Amino acid sequence: MTRERLTARPGVNDVALCIKCHKVTNAPVPVRWIESTSGPGTTLYACPDHAAELTPGPMPGELESPF
Ligand SMILES: [Zn+2]
Repeated sequence: MTRERLTARPGVNDVALCIKCHKVTNAPVPVRWIESTSGPGTTLYACPDHAAELTPGPMPGELESPF
């Protein structure tokens, strides 16, 4: 866990399941975004250990590049 993670966005203490090891992490790192046709979509998370080895997918807004 980094200092950045601790100080940024206080109050956001969500836990999430790591998509790699399927364990609950209290420091989820968003690594993938699944678009939904019927809703706002879903963000998938990984624990800090596995976030580094997963290739990040496009996040909301990143698909709107001019290229
Ligand atoms: Zn993991």
